[in-house]
Amino acid sequence: MDIRIGIGFDIHRLEEGRKLIIGGVEIPYEKGWVAHSDGDIFFHALTDALLGAIGYGDIGELFPDNQAKWKNVDSSFFLKEAYNFVKKEGYEIINIDGYIILQKPKLLPYRRQIIENTAKILNINESQIFIKGKTFEKIGEIGEGKAGLAEVIVLLKK
Ligand code: MG
Repeated sequence: MDIRIGIGFDIHRLEEGRKLIIGGVEIPYEKGWVAHSDGDIFFHALTDALLGAIGYGDIGELFPDNQAKWKNVDSSFFLKEAYNFVKKEGYEIINIDGYIILQKPKLLPYRRQIIENTAKILNINESQIFIKGKTFEKIGEIGEGKAGLAEVIVLLKK
């Protein structure tokens, strides 16, 4: 069996009056992502993990943020594109694991919805996906709620 591992990371600043979208789920909160697209850190990190696993470059290379067509785009588009490359190369997902670091709000009430949504987009089982919500223990700018980050790891097989 041909096994591939991929890792992805993303970080975005948080600002008042913007949307906070994680895994395609809009989370009600006073702040949201400063980003060219919708800023979905989980989908961006997952997209990079999938692309990395098959050596297809990275999200910034494939979907440059200086191009108007990616402005405010739903990040599930990037994820679907990356997954199409994965399938084209003959791989399937074994599992996805990741964490989101956000000082506020708590991720737990939205976790199930994020997992369900991601599973639906990738047409895999919810049991193949997990994410943890963590805080940054009030350390530095992330701890002050000025940014949020995501790191995702993915395992593929052929
Ligand atoms: Mg991003």
